[in-house]
Amino acid sequence: MTSVAPVPRLVDQFERGLDAPICLTWELTYACNLACVHCLSSSGKRDPRELSTQQCKDIIDELERMQVFYVNIGGGEPTVRSDFWELVDYATEHHVGVKFSTNGVRITPEVAAKLAASDYVDVQISLDGANAEVNDAVRGPGSFAMAVRALENLSAAGFSDAKISVVVTRHNVDQLDDFKALADRYGATLRITRLRPSGRGADVWDELHPTPAQQVQLYDWLVARGDRVLTGDSFFHLSGLGEPGALAGLNLCGAGRVVCLIDPVGDVYACPFAIHDRFLAGNVVSDGGFDTVWKHAPLFRELREPQSAGACSSCGHFDACRGGCMAAKFFTGLPMDGPDPECVQGYGESALSADRTVPKSSVDHSRTGNRKTPAGPIPLTLLTVPPKKFCNESPL
Ligand code: SF4
Ligand code: SF4
Repeated sequence: MTSVAPVPRLVDQFERGLDAPICLTWELTYACNLACVHCLSSSGKRDPRELSTQQCKDIIDELERMQVFYVNIGGGEPTVRSDFWELVDYATEHHVGVKFSTNGVRITPEVAAKLAASDYVDVQISLDGANAEVNDAVRGPGSFAMAVRALENLSAAGFSDAKISVVVTRHNVDQLDDFKALADRYGATLRITRLRPSGRGADVWDELHPTPAQQVQLYDWLVARGDRVLTGDSFFHLSGLGEPGALAGLNLCGAGRVVCLIDPVGDVYACPFAIHDRFLAGNVVSDGGFDTVWKHAPLFRELREPQSAGACSSCGHFDACRGGCMAAKFFTGLPMDGPDPECVQGYGESALSADRTVPKSSVDHSRTGNRKTPAGPIPLTLLTVPPKKFCNESPL
């Protein structure tokens, strides 16, 4: 009798990395018409070194050769790039599906009709409050109305299954049912993600990240009502709150293994929430293309090696939680082989109260100029200078 070799578990294959990323985020520009207080890429102004149209098309050609199924396009606000629609068309014509994230600024009825006619483009509208009061405190005045208008236009054009993308905060965690209702109203799917202390998010994380009690509330909501809610790898650090496998989604940090980011100047980072030199793998222009960086960058080889469980090794939840999010630990100044800052055992909180040095990314395109580290809690409204009227102040 011939023996059949055991099929490796998917998660083990993911840990060793794949020939191409499953979740590739590509930020096309740092320009943005808004100035959200928690922007993970500290966007605002365009970077003069941003990739040209031809350079972007060369990347798409490479993604097609690598058989990357689809790309998550973001920014900044990607639709403010004058060649945005040309690049979307080029990608879909070359068998690379597109999901793009937008605040809705350019989703007019005409654009919505064009999008509804394509099978290969998905749209994700960002909203961080289920009403204007909660949303606009984080994303800026008028941003709720703008996002809802985009959803209305998509729905009226017959675009099916748009996504509403919500960063869960201390102020909107009570609105999860309202977000779901909003998504249902527009035939959309709700996607909720974790607030990471990356980019400008580092400045507001202490004030905005859910409290331990709210994390339990969020977990319970996901178990009870989250079966049709997308979460990606956002909440696997909460897995220890219940039965193994109760939470859907990837319970693994995929950074550099199945996840990565190409930024507007072609720099490749291990994860969209890890824009820092420590996680910079290379550049698509100067280091021989994306395929070379993905397959051979020393950083990615390092991340695909078995990682030490460190201080989490004796935790009974380790198989489910795996120490949590690398970026959340790094940007709160916690050791990478220690517990997540929102560890459900409470170890993160005690680690946060000890002396630590919080690293700052050198990449900052905020329109308010380089941010200063606040001496203490500061009101959210002081952190941004939103434009008086959308697009009055050109982010380009
Ligand atoms: S660093 Fe955090 S956000 Fe990035 S892939 Fe890992 S778990 Fe996900
Ligand atoms: S101690 Fe580590 S493995 Fe255990 S729950 Fe906390 S972060 Fe997760």
